Amino acid sequence: MKKLLCKPCAVALEARGKTVKPAAGRCEKITCAECGRRRFGIPYDVNGWPTRRKKEDKPK
Ligand SMILES: [Zn+2]
Repeated sequence: MKKLLCKPCAVALEARGKTVKPAAGRCEKITCAECGRRRFGIPYDVNGWPTRRKKEDKPK
């Protein structure tokens, strides 16, 4: 799933076990999908986006 994220949010998501891949190389002014702020960021391809919180959701 494509998400517009600022760098700190992308890093935070990755730290939470998501796969976050930059989908563009250029920084631009975006509205971050995670923190909702207008910041500099880029589109990311995010996999494993939580639709619902699960306990101990282990990747295979
Ligand atoms: Zn953010």
